[in-house]
Amino acid sequence: MTDKNAALVVFSGGQDSTTCLFWAKKNFRDVHALSFLYGQKHHDEVALAREIAREAHVHFEAMEIPFIARLAENALTDASMAMDQEQPEGGLPNTFVPGRNLFFLSIAAVYARERGIRHLVTGVSQTDFSGYPDCRDAFIKSLNVTLNLAMDEQFVIHTPLMWIDKAQTWQMADDLGVLELVRTRTMTCYNNIPGNGCGHCPACKLRREGLERYLNAKQKGIRL
Ligand code: ZN
Repeated sequence: MTDKNAALVVFSGGQDSTTCLFWAKKNFRDVHALSFLYGQKHHDEVALAREIAREAHVHFEAMEIPFIARLAENALTDASMAMDQEQPEGGLPNTFVPGRNLFFLSIAAVYARERGIRHLVTGVSQTDFSGYPDCRDAFIKSLNVTLNLAMDEQFVIHTPLMWIDKAQTWQMADDLGVLELVRTRTMTCYNNIPGNGCGHCPACKLRREGLERYLNAKQKGIRL
């Protein structure tokens, strides 16, 4: 039987999906978190994810899908490749894992279906579009229809961050009462450093600029 009050969060332990985890906790009674081990260089992020899930009192599972790394070359899984400092003009960044969100959400949907869950939550955002086509709203809507047709189900994919930027994501974390937790415990950094990170990779830059902008606005009493 479907539990209308249950949701499954695709959860990496990063800033975005952690904010989504607490968003889900606010909006659903029963929250599950699913992480993927896909051969990424940073296995630590799954350990961090597990810790956060435990503290948040949500069901957590990590699923191994190592075939992703074997399908295509990219800097997140290939130890010999450096992660891009800057995105090549007009091209995809070398941290792009082709089909990642397609696989993640398809697996998550099957996992959810087996547990009577029809709400899926993902932290993708089109606003800070970094060249990942599978973070776009059109892709998510299309996949939602496809998953429903594939399994004759009525899944609802929630994307709380789709139209907000990094600063507003910090604001959301603060509104949810988890600003400090997200700030100190999550990992977004390409160089595998939790919290404030290395400070110079593209992910750290985006994260820090967003935080500074949010804290400035908050100090002036401005809502973003
Ligand atoms: Zn970094």
